[in-house]
Amino acid sequence: MRFDGLMVSVSGVRGRVGDALTPEVMATFAAAFGAWATARHPGRPVVVGRDSRVSGAMFTRVVHAALESVGCTVIDIGMVPTPTVQLEVEHHHAAGGLAITASHNPIEWNALKFIGSSGLFLSAAEGAEMRALLDGAIPRATWDRLGTIVADEDAIRRHVDAVLALPFLDVAAIRAKAFPVALDCCHGAGSRIMPALLDALGCTVSSIGMTADGRFPRPPEPVAENLGALSDLVRASGAVVGFATDPDVDRLALVDETGRPIGEDYTLAMAVRAVLPARPGSVVTNLSTSKVVQDAARDHGADFHFAPVGEVNVALAMRDAGATIGGEGNGGVILPELHLGRDAPVAVALVLHLLATTGKSVSDFVTAHPRYVIVKDKLDRPDVALDAVYAALRERFAEAVADTQDGLRLDWPDRWVHLRPSGTEPIVRVIAEAPTEEAARQLIADAREPLAALAGAA
Ligand code: MG
Repeated sequence: MRFDGLMVSVSGVRGRVGDALTPEVMATFAAAFGAWATARHPGRPVVVGRDSRVSGAMFTRVVHAALESVGCTVIDIGMVPTPTVQLEVEHHHAAGGLAITASHNPIEWNALKFIGSSGLFLSAAEGAEMRALLDGAIPRATWDRLGTIVADEDAIRRHVDAVLALPFLDVAAIRAKAFPVALDCCHGAGSRIMPALLDALGCTVSSIGMTADGRFPRPPEPVAENLGALSDLVRASGAVVGFATDPDVDRLALVDETGRPIGEDYTLAMAVRAVLPARPGSVVTNLSTSKVVQDAARDHGADFHFAPVGEVNVALAMRDAGATIGGEGNGGVILPELHLGRDAPVAVALVLHLLATTGKSVSDFVTAHPRYVIVKDKLDRPDVALDAVYAALRERFAEAVADTQDGLRLDWPDRWVHLRPSGTEPIVRVIAEAPTEEAARQLIADAREPLAALAGAA
């Protein structure tokens, strides 16, 4: 089966609504997933949840029907964060889960994300096995074996309760502070969970973007340039911190008490500083994550490991390492003690725990540690293997520590550069971080040289 214009990745399928992403495509993938998941775990249900996107209700009906057609019992948990779907797969001992969400992508996108029985996104091998069903006839149920739909309205409450029940989380200390906080949910699913969590943590909340209708008033990725309204709200309300979630609530960005967006990397860095005193252990991030996280791990004497880019890769590396905490520099915090998925509600609780237990401000955590500048670039991918580029760079920068798990990352004590071919587009991503923008741009230029030479020769 061909799917022109769709972005098919390891653990999901994504497209523009009304273009490549049609109800037929969603139905086909959902049926294949349901057949695959229940063949592995007969008799167990499939959990379905969605974010707030305008097309979400339509695609939910399609996904329900597709799952019924392959005989699945569907537990529908409604409009929820993606991490809530992951938690509910575990709660219901489900065969798997489907999240109907295009995460931080622009308003015209939607997507289906595949979650396995452990609550993790599908690995490369699992994804390939599932997609193999698309090449033949998907096994459908006869009339007497069709599936059923069961609604479960308590998923959000269970998620909030699970965060509050984290043994090391000092809920009493957080509540005693009665923090004024600002919140921007960008008309996403965050508006379904964040008010309840912040209320339970004793915060006074000033909020924007709380209508969960998917009509994003700004680009939904919670990067600094999109957080102007939240910055204004922090200043106007006197909040000690501003929280911004992406539409499916697996990423959290922070605005400090002066109204300055501090960059998404600090979310994980602060979460690491919150957890390690109570839970000594190792830290895992992907290879494109800022040094501020490594610095936080080092300050607490924790082992630090890199994983290839991709949430499931980080989650699997964390499971293998028995890591205490990890995630991605894009504001994705993973706390295995709760579950192995990026979780913005957990991140909110950890940031408030850190503020409450240290008495410091958000800006204190930024100014007290070395600052870095990240520069991101992308180039057309040459039509040949990149091994020669990697070899040339390793030879030129022999003093740097090289990591070849996912492209090439070269590391120095205060800077790094990472080259990796995109999994979904014909480009090479180059990311560099250094103490100054000039130094980061120089690293990018150095990395481009052998790439340009190769492209010229090809
Ligand atoms: Mg997301």
